[in-house]
Amino acid sequence: MHRPPDSSGTQRDPYRIGVTRSPFRARNVECICSFPRAIRRKVRPAWVRGGQNSHARIEKRRMLTDAPPRRANRAGFLESDGIKTLDLPRDGRLRLITKSIATAIGAGASQDLHRACQEFLDAACEFYQVPACGVRVLAARPLRVRERWMTELFGDYAPETMLIRVWMRTAVRKDVTSFGTFLSTLCHEFCHHLDFQKLGLHDSWHTRGFYERAATLYHHARDTAPKQLFWVPAPGGRWRINWPRTNRGGG
Ligand SMILES: [Zn+2]
Repeated sequence: MHRPPDSSGTQRDPYRIGVTRSPFRARNVECICSFPRAIRRKVRPAWVRGGQNSHARIEKRRMLTDAPPRRANRAGFLESDGIKTLDLPRDGRLRLITKSIATAIGAGASQDLHRACQEFLDAACEFYQVPACGVRVLAARPLRVRERWMTELFGDYAPETMLIRVWMRTAVRKDVTSFGTFLSTLCHEFCHHLDFQKLGLHDSWHTRGFYERAATLYHHARDTAPKQLFWVPAPGGRWRINWPRTNRGGG
């Protein structure tokens, strides 16, 4: 039985597992960055120290696929993995709105940023002919510390309420995130919306196909040349991007 959206309009706790039945997964799709914990050694890792490449480093680290699910969900996972292309608008509407996102990020203007993000999503939903999805632009990313790992939440998507949340400031330094990272996250979250509403998947996994689709949308919106992504196997049936090879264009 389909559970109606929360009438209060508030987002549920993204870390809480839902208990109601739904055609979609009951919890949000979280999009995180994981990296080794270095606090115990009292060495602050590069992403804490900051610097020009810290965002890029984080961005590259999160390009790791989910482990394939067993049994029931495997077919959907493989379907997602196999869809590597995404139709793109032929007009420049998304690119125009993307410029507004860049301007708002540059000024650190959260209200302008929220307005531009909603405009971007409205235009994208219209093009892909999917139900509208909302967006909240929040401040510093939540950071969770585990025994050996920390995760930083970049964004999430709630399938039941069709609400995207994106964070505009880094977890530790509270700096405004880079335009590229922010736009990449917004496109990434929107692709979760497409998985449910366009592709008809009942869950949205971080597969190689998912990352390819998100990158296609990102490069279109930013008007940059798409890169072919090269993957290498990782433990647990996962894949991670081979950035040196990807940046070389293969070879
Ligand atoms: Zn995600």
